[in-house]
Amino acid sequence: MRFCPQCGSAISIVVPAGDNRERHVCSACDSIHYQNPRIIAGCIPVWEDKVLLCKRAINPRKGYWTLPAGFMELDETTEQAAIRETLEEAEAVVKTDELYAVFNLPHINQVYMMYRSVLLKPEFSSGIESLDVRLFSEHEIPWDELAFETMRMSLEYFFKDRQTGAYMFRSTDINKPMPR
Ligand SMILES: [Zn+2]
Repeated sequence: MRFCPQCGSAISIVVPAGDNRERHVCSACDSIHYQNPRIIAGCIPVWEDKVLLCKRAINPRKGYWTLPAGFMELDETTEQAAIRETLEEAEAVVKTDELYAVFNLPHINQVYMMYRSVLLKPEFSSGIESLDVRLFSEHEIPWDELAFETMRMSLEYFFKDRQTGAYMFRSTDINKPMPR
């Protein structure tokens, strides 16, 4: 951020009084523009013994498979965001079950919140951000063509727990070093 979104003046990076971190502070109106992690909400949509995946039509990771997920919008809950993203990317209507996995990715300032969910009917198609949308049995999952580590781990947790039927909430930190 170089210019103040409030007044357009130049931004300085300073530690404000009473704070202990550098912040983006406006040199003219003194507004402090805090930057915080972004939340990505998504679903693990299930129909019978299969899971719905989307092939990404956009970068990053275009052409790779993902569970439907995306950035939360203002004025919505994490659950609403997960349902909306599934509708947008897979044109599928789901009922969310429970919050199943949280992933902290501090190196890219993201938090993923993944919900177990059930398709209300086996109807889906490619939304504008997807090249293809399909139901996969466990043995059909394209493990080598998954877009993100968060999706691989969500699917691994899900299939592991499904063997016993005891689904266990997971909170996982994925730490990757900052690129130099
Ligand atoms: Zn300003």
